[in-house]
Amino acid sequence: MKLSAFGTKFTTESGILSLMDDLGNALAGDQEMIMMGGGNPSHIPEVQQLMRERTLCILDNPKEFQHLIGVYDPPQGEVEFLDNLARLLKRELGWNVTARNIALSNGSQSGFFMLFNMFAGEYDDGSVKQIQLPLAPEYIGYADAGLSRDFFKAGHPKIDLLGDHLFKYRVDFSEIEIDQNTGAICVSRPTNPTGNVLTDDEMQQLDALAKQHQIPLMIDGAYGTPFPNLIFTEAKPLWNDNVIACMSLSKLGLPSARTGIIVANEEVIRAVSGVNAIMNLSTGSFGPVMTQEMVRTGEIIKISNELVKPYYQERSQLAVKEFQRALGDLPYYIHKPEGAMFLWLWFKDLPISSLELYQRLKERGVLVVSGHYFFPGIPDEWQHKHECIRVTYSQEADKVKRGIEIIGEEVAKAYAQG
Ligand code: PLP
Repeated sequence: MKLSAFGTKFTTESGILSLMDDLGNALAGDQEMIMMGGGNPSHIPEVQQLMRERTLCILDNPKEFQHLIGVYDPPQGEVEFLDNLARLLKRELGWNVTARNIALSNGSQSGFFMLFNMFAGEYDDGSVKQIQLPLAPEYIGYADAGLSRDFFKAGHPKIDLLGDHLFKYRVDFSEIEIDQNTGAICVSRPTNPTGNVLTDDEMQQLDALAKQHQIPLMIDGAYGTPFPNLIFTEAKPLWNDNVIACMSLSKLGLPSARTGIIVANEEVIRAVSGVNAIMNLSTGSFGPVMTQEMVRTGEIIKISNELVKPYYQERSQLAVKEFQRALGDLPYYIHKPEGAMFLWLWFKDLPISSLELYQRLKERGVLVVSGHYFFPGIPDEWQHKHECIRVTYSQEADKVKRGIEIIGEEVAKAYAQG
């Protein structure tokens, strides 16, 4: 099969593809695996019950059922949902938006694909622009989403040691070079993989930089405010005419609804709707129909704050304690868990690479993700890139505990051999 440049790029060079393949193969083997790798949100019983009740309600209502399965929604998204969401954002966050400031996408992943390629890559005047990530590690799903190569630039972070084996990445503004070849700035807040939440001050500086250079600031709130609100620290949500805020229904517990949400100025929203029409014809109705009422009434905020957020926060605190027990005096650091649903561990001067550690853990029946995948735009030579792993703590508590014990054993072994 002879593939185009597009076909080749999107089938053979993708880190996320090889990672997903590897996870899939590990699952298909005979050994029972402790899954601490993937980003699937937990099946929180109370949330699932609410969704079940809502589904039954839709089945009992012929008009809603018809909408669920039998209607092409407009490429911008279902009109009533956009209206209800705009009111919610205005009421809850004070954002000055109407339905004309919101577009849906089939998952925020596809929203990023559209936005990245709208603002970076080749321009008609011959210039080529890149997306600036203020710091890496950043979300692995960005890394291959550009239609051309070398799509991202990223700054090395500052590393603040906080004591008690905790640390925090901060934006090193001296690492950010914005020029005529920068198309947009993008950051996830909270960050996947680290659980970092950029401070309000860092966000204001990024906002000012973006405005100064007349490029948009994209803020990926897949774990952010107002839903699922997996933020365990103080953080002001930011939106203005120059910000493109991206949200998702996935981490609330609806990843299969594939509903992403883009909040931006009307010009951006019109452009996204146009791309959406070509790529998808229509946006899926499942997410809007399922959550229409909870968005209208604001119940979605209550679900986030009273069910979803406490679930992950408690799990994250438990996992930190287990790691502190399992890793003892080893030279390890955990990124301060300020949000999202992962722990990010840094094993300073580890004698083996994080990829080798991942392989050894896989042989012991524990799946984590090697951290080196999460540094798009950062050259390989940076040793730190090969000293980190990402761990999900949302499986059953006893499995997570066992997984953490095994990680402790393997890390201790690796340091002892070094
Ligand atoms: N952004 C971040 C930071 C994520 O972690 C994810 C998924 O894990 C996404 C975006 C994409 O989510 P979805 O396409 O399910 O909305």
